[in-house]
Amino acid sequence: MIKKLNITILFSFFFISCGNPTAEKPSYIQTVNGAHQVSPNEIWLSHEHILVDFIGADSIQSNVPNHDIIIKEMLPYLEELKAYHVNYFVDATPNYLGRDVLLLEKIAHKTGLQIITNTGFYGARNNKFVPKYAQEMTAKDLAEMWINEYDNGINNTSIKPGFIKIGVDSYDSLHVMHQKLVRAAAMTHLNTGLTIASHTGNANGLWPQLSILKKLGVSLEAFIWVHSQQENNNDNYLKAAKMGCWISLDGLGWDLDKHVEKILFAKKNNILDRILISHDSGWYDPQKKSQTIQPYTNIFKKLYPVLKSKGFTEDEFKLLISVNPSKAFSIKVKTF
Ligand SMILES: [Zn+2]
Repeated sequence: MIKKLNITILFSFFFISCGNPTAEKPSYIQTVNGAHQVSPNEIWLSHEHILVDFIGADSIQSNVPNHDIIIKEMLPYLEELKAYHVNYFVDATPNYLGRDVLLLEKIAHKTGLQIITNTGFYGARNNKFVPKYAQEMTAKDLAEMWINEYDNGINNTSIKPGFIKIGVDSYDSLHVMHQKLVRAAAMTHLNTGLTIASHTGNANGLWPQLSILKKLGVSLEAFIWVHSQQENNNDNYLKAAKMGCWISLDGLGWDLDKHVEKILFAKKNNILDRILISHDSGWYDPQKKSQTIQPYTNIFKKLYPVLKSKGFTEDEFKLLISVNPSKAFSIKVKTF
């Protein structure tokens, strides 16, 4: 309890005392409650999940989740974030994997968290979560559908996506469907300015995605390499950072040591300004009778003290949890 209190005081002090380090003009982001300007001083969790349903794209429509039960289970974990002044919570659950924007809206209202949802399709795991009708569509048709969610709202609501979430199986050459998802994401970005976050894993599948984006004229600063902690060769982080993409080390709900090693590598090689961190936690699964929820607090309870003991400064920590995500999720068309 005392430890938690100390960190809380430290965070309060730190965010009151640090002024605005960047003189860039304000950017805006899109939450389930609407669009607003973002400052580089708010605390973000840039890749988490509340609900995830693995039943598969062709069964999920008939599976209506009970919001009251989910909220009762998840609220304590989300309420915990108040002590750490978390403001932005990026829900990375894609459509057909449990994306439920009305649930997110209710939770945002109850907790005061600014929750960000997404448009796009998740092709990883061999397209199990891409509905049949979408597998037959062209990239342009997919993009039109996603742009429509941004322009007019998701599923007849006024809730709009704040980024594009896609997923690929990470091989040297991408599955045809996954190439199509990347092209559709590029077109959606060029129309809306939404950032593309792609479930990728190791770097094999990263390079073909970046080359598609480049060909279509999308700046790689509009791309987040999701689950980059699965890459074993740290040199690939230097290569990706040099190309300009965001590197998301987002498995902190499950592992600490590997993430610490990679964050220290990033600091040593001056690429901390390209790194995002998060837990990939939560995961209420309606297919399971009893839930094992992974908490969203390791960054504050475990990672922060370790980085501090290894010489991390407040400004460096702030880059990871505030400055970088506020830039990464800013909505702006970024061209090559
Ligand atoms: Zn995830």
